[in-house]
Amino acid sequence: MKVSIYSNNGQSSRKVAAALHRGLTAGGVEIDSLNPDIVVTVGGDGTLLSAFHHYTDRLDKIRFVGIHTGHLGFYTDWRDYEVNDLIQSLVQDNGQSVSYPLLTIQVDYADGTQSDQALALNESTIKKVSGTMVADVYIKGEFFESFRGDGLCISTPTGSTAYNKSVGGAVINPRFNAIQMAEIASINNLVFRTLGSPLIIPDDEWIRIEPTESAGNVLMCDQLSIEGRPVKAITYRIAQQRISFAEYRHTHFWQRVETSFIGRERP
Ligand code: NAP
Ligand code: MN
Repeated sequence: MKVSIYSNNGQSSRKVAAALHRGLTAGGVEIDSLNPDIVVTVGGDGTLLSAFHHYTDRLDKIRFVGIHTGHLGFYTDWRDYEVNDLIQSLVQDNGQSVSYPLLTIQVDYADGTQSDQALALNESTIKKVSGTMVADVYIKGEFFESFRGDGLCISTPTGSTAYNKSVGGAVINPRFNAIQMAEIASINNLVFRTLGSPLIIPDDEWIRIEPTESAGNVLMCDQLSIEGRPVKAITYRIAQQRISFAEYRHTHFWQRVETSFIGRERP
């Protein structure tokens, strides 16, 4: 088995990465960042997002594991002081895995040039930084609404606890194969009307967003911006690909939500 160690630059992360490197090598595990079977990230959820985009062409061959060196993350459930337990699990690995849905983004450009495809683990947002974003929204090929406001956020179930949650979207258990669209500051008055609440679509539906002004919008895919040419339309679907995690132990999804966001003292 080959393992890649993908760490952020923080001092504590680099220490954990070095300990991991030593322990795995001693246990007979090969370290290979080019063709790994398992990618261990050290840092935060943002580090796992970067690793996901780094290995996006090998998703069908890779399982991820996240160690957090800051606060508990949604993709990072091993703590820095549990490195030895994790090394044991990796050395004894027998392929345990769990997989979650991803979002596919197709971008069609106003000048008719070649469309782009991208995958997101958390979400994609389309926003206008200056002025109001105006866009027509189609669901499964049918006109749905004309949106005016700051922007729209389309997220995966595992991304539902990230940006989506900040704009009032629902938290979705990632066992659902679904994507969610949430509004970012929509304008609703006697003239302009949108649904005004988040909506969730199943895997045989898709969302198409057509900005009425093709320039001046910022299109994001997780933490990356899709630069460049004016956009004619963006189509969002649940991807065929999924992301897999090596599951050496199971944390109940709602327990993770409670620990991360509520964290109250138990009675
Ligand atoms: P960041 O500024 O560090 O991310 C913002 C926060 O979101 C961090 O606390 C990050 O955790 C957390 N996070 C990331 N994915 C999450 C998930 N699936 N569930 C719950 N929390 C999550 O930037 P980043 O680390 O590069 O992450 C990029 C993500 O930031 C984007 O995909 C977007 O979801 C989110 N974001 C949120 C807002 C907002 O809420 N207004 C605005 C922009 C971007 P770590 O500290 O562990 O990295
Ligand atoms: Mn971060």
